[in-house]
This record gives sequence, structure tokens and C-alpha cells, in this order.
Amino acid sequence: MQPTGKVYLVGAGPGDPGLLTMRAHELLQQADVVVYDRLVSSGVLELIPEGVMKTCVGKASGRHSVPQEQINQLLVDLAMAEGERARKIVRLKGGDPFIFGRGSEEAMFLRAYGIAFEVVPGVTAAAACSAYAGVPLTHRGMSRGVRLVTGHFLENKRLKLDWRALADPDSTLVIYMGLSSLGRLCDELTKQGMDPAMPAVAIQDGTTDRQRRVFGDLNTLPARVKNSRLTSPVLVVIGKTVALAGQLDWFVTNKEYIDDAMAGACNS
Ligand code: SAH
Repeated sequence: MQPTGKVYLVGAGPGDPGLLTMRAHELLQQADVVVYDRLVSSGVLELIPEGVMKTCVGKASGRHSVPQEQINQLLVDLAMAEGERARKIVRLKGGDPFIFGRGSEEAMFLRAYGIAFEVVPGVTAAAACSAYAGVPLTHRGMSRGVRLVTGHFLENKRLKLDWRALADPDSTLVIYMGLSSLGRLCDELTKQGMDPAMPAVAIQDGTTDRQRRVFGDLNTLPARVKNSRLTSPVLVVIGKTVALAGQLDWFVTNKEYIDDAMAGACNS
């Protein structure tokens, strides 16, 4: 019988290769094929041995260069390709495969074709970018919970969101893919009673030597982000703990751009 390959849905973390799990590193060394997204950093890609087939199915924010159905089919085809032995196919994704990574969709597709898979969690952007920005997601007396949401939901008008719950001042709100909808999001939160002075930060290319942060509050952040011309990928964190960045700042890259707004937030 034709041996069927196995697909490993592997989280590559947010950029810094040091945040890769040992399992992810091991699989990269053993892979026959690596199918990766645009978010996967060059530092991580450099860890793949020479000669391993690499395919970029690059997904940029808002546009999918390879449609999801084609990615699903590619994984199935690779797993079923003829060969003397079962192949190891690594599906490498930025951050964690099951957090806004469509990893679960791919896993369901594989299961429908009877193809074995394994999921290797990765350090998600919320955990990593906030930590490298000096922002704890929870802090006793300041934030007792965290919510991870995607900014894309704003484009879906049919979706009824519980804005009041999102505006909870005692938890931290983390927004993935929120760069283009940041203004509307901040408006809605203010309308639901969140303090316009609530601290907020936008982090671009978190954990890498290109990391940039723009600090502000619910009221000022959208304009500051626009003026700073941040580009994707950007993670937005809103909540009281953002004000701790002044005390908890530790990750310094000599390339990081620090604007006046951030210096103000960090000195306060
Ligand atoms: N599966 C990924 C998220 C994919 S969605 C994870 O678990 O992290 C893509 C979004 O993730 C980006 O639009 C951005 O909001 C966020 N993101 C991922 N890596 C990032 C980074 N290094 N810096 C800032 N934001 C990042």
C-alpha cells in the first residue's frame, strides 16, 4: 500500500527564533517539505536545513496569496505523493497554529482525507509581543483576564459583538489584525463606556530587531499609529497594564523606533 505522509501543524512563534519550541526545531530538522506563511520570520526559516523543499503560501493581512482551499489541497497532495517512505510535511505558521492561524481548518481537511496530523503549539503574538514590549497581559489589581480578538470581525457587519464585555476596564484586550480597523474599534469601545484615557499600544514586528511600538490611549492611538506609518504585522494591546511598560521595558533593539508618544508613556 502507498505510504501516506504525516502533516505537522507547527507554530513558529512571532519572529524571534529563540521562541521556537524544541519540538518545532526538531521537526524542522526532520522535514521533507516545509509549507510556510509570510508571517514566519527569516530567522526561523534559516533553521531549515539546505535541500529541504520549502513552499511559501504567503498570507499577507487582508489578502490571501494562495486561497485556503488550495493550501488544504496542497497538504493533502504532499502527504499522498508517491515515495518509498512516509513523508514528514511541516506546515509552519506564525505564532500558534490554533490562534487565528486557520490551523484547525487545515486539520479538519486532513482528517477528512484520513491523513494523520500533529499540532505543535507556538508562542502566540499576544504572549510574546506584549512581553517584549514590557506589557504584562495580567497584573494583580489591574487586569484579571485577557481577551484575544481579531480586527477582521469589524468587516463582518452581521456579527453582533458584545462590545460592553470587550470594554471591560478590568481585563486586557489584545487585537490581532487590527491595523486597518483600529479607529473604529477605539470609537466603539469609547461608546461603550471605556475610558478614552485607557492606555494602549500598537506593536509592529514584535520580538524582532525591527520591533516598533507606538504608545497612546484609546483616544490618541489611532492617529499616532497613522502618523507613525506602522505596517503589518501589528498587534494592539489595550488596558491598564500597558502603563507598566515604563517600568518593565527590557527588550532593546538598536533599530527600534521610539516616538515622543512612547517616550511619554514610558516615562510616566
Ligand atoms: N497565529 C498567529 C496569528 C496570525 S494572525 C499567532 O498566534 O500569533 C496575524 C496577526 O498576528 C497579525 O496581523 C498581527 O496582529 C499578529 N502578529 C503576529 N506576529 C506578530 C508580530 N511579530 N508582531 C506584531 N503582530 C504580530
